[in-house]
Amino acid sequence: MPGEPQDDCLFCKIVEGHVPATIVRETETTVAFRDINPQAPTHVLVIPRAHYPNAAALAAAEPALAADLLLATQEIADEDKLESYRIVFNTGAGAGQTVFHVHAHILGGRGMQWPPG
Ligand code: 5GP
Ligand code: ZN
Repeated sequence: MPGEPQDDCLFCKIVEGHVPATIVRETETTVAFRDINPQAPTHVLVIPRAHYPNAAALAAAEPALAADLLLATQEIADEDKLESYRIVFNTGAGAGQTVFHVHAHILGGRGMQWPPG
């Protein structure tokens, strides 16, 4: 079933508390935790508790949950007092997605370049 936990998914295991993470914020529908390999002073991942493989699948199945994810990014940026920050949804292996449970990267606390690598 779409949205159901997947046995082989690292981020479902973090949601279930079976894999430890430094959680910075939780809501009924989302969990946010620090990236294990931070690429900026603030590097937080925000995920829905429900399993969807990428942002488009989430938005198509549960638009209100996609909105929850984006609202959580703003709250985390506010908590870390980030005036500017970048939200990234890597989608597909070619774009660098390695965990196929949708996650927003929030990156901030340093200057950013454009175009991204
Ligand atoms: P992706 O490459 O799929 O866009 O992002 C996956 C992110 O998950 C990477 O930035 C990676 O550092 C992070 N990550 C991988 N394994 C773990 C883990 O066990 N704990 C945490 N907190 N982050 C992880
Ligand atoms: Zn999952």
